[in-house]
Amino acid sequence: MFSISPVESMNFDGHTLYIKRDDLLHADFSGNKARKFYHFLHHDYSYVTRLVGAGSAQANSLYSLSVLAKQQGWQFDYYVSHISKFLLQHPQGNYAAAIQNGANIINVAELPYADNIAGMHLDDVVQYIMLSTPTYADKQHLLCIPEGGRCEYAETGIAQLASEIIEWAQIRQQIKLMVFLPSGTGTTAAYLNKQLIQQLAQLQLTPVLTIEVLTCSTVGGDDYLRQQFSQLIDEVYYPHIVSDGHKYHFGKLSQRCFDMWQTVCQSGIEFELLYDPVGFLVLQHYLKTNTLTNTDILYVHQGGILGNKTMLPRYLRKFSNSINAS
Ligand SMILES: *Cc1c(COP(=O)(O)O)cnc(C)c1O
Repeated sequence: MFSISPVESMNFDGHTLYIKRDDLLHADFSGNKARKFYHFLHHDYSYVTRLVGAGSAQANSLYSLSVLAKQQGWQFDYYVSHISKFLLQHPQGNYAAAIQNGANIINVAELPYADNIAGMHLDDVVQYIMLSTPTYADKQHLLCIPEGGRCEYAETGIAQLASEIIEWAQIRQQIKLMVFLPSGTGTTAAYLNKQLIQQLAQLQLTPVLTIEVLTCSTVGGDDYLRQQFSQLIDEVYYPHIVSDGHKYHFGKLSQRCFDMWQTVCQSGIEFELLYDPVGFLVLQHYLKTNTLTNTDILYVHQGGILGNKTMLPRYLRKFSNSINAS
């Protein structure tokens, strides 16, 4: 169902950046969530009748899972630990689109046994729900995907991304490439680096073409990100984590992030508002403090534009007096 996503170029702080437009993979199923969930489209899951997931009510993965479920004709239950009043009154973005696709979004705080699960991590809550809900007694027909698609299945689609990047570099006869992408769970960066290393070796390109994967944390800091890597891949495959010294709190609105988002959107490419501003701020810092020679920089646009429908109004309510004039 996917075509190869295009690569476009833009100017960034005096550098040429190549943008891998995974946001354009497919009209309804795009970005890194589409890469992560690609596996389920290309393997036989016809025994599944119900998909269970969990995460934030505005998450990009909520929307992508709802597309997957609709396409496959699965019931889709999605657990959230919180839904804001505002979103309930004004459904929009990923949340509204997922509901339109038939997602059954369940607030765990409203479950009859909410007291038993209060304070538990969402992944554990889902474990608990799986065991205590009669609808889920028949495990054979269930597919349960961890928050953010952090699971080994994600590697299938990310392997495809890796091979597209290698092909692109070969066509350009590029010998040194730096790939940059901001991380949440780190699943995409981890599998991408592992796949690039393995595929380059398999193609016997290892000394000829060097591809380095750089990423940054947008959630919980560098140690947390390394710990996430450790659950998915061997240490030899860890991508390089870079930082600009700031501690970013996921989803927190900041003037710096908003300014950076407006700057990069002037390229004509719309980026998303949760991960990309942090990615570009850290990349900017990296480019200021490191000299690259004969190296192309490829930034992976990981989609998530639908989420801007909820994030942008929040930003505008907070910083409406500071929109760049241009
Ligand atoms: C989910 C997401 C990420 C984070 O991906 P991980 O694999 O969890 O690191 C980054 N950017 C966008 C736009 C996303 O939707």
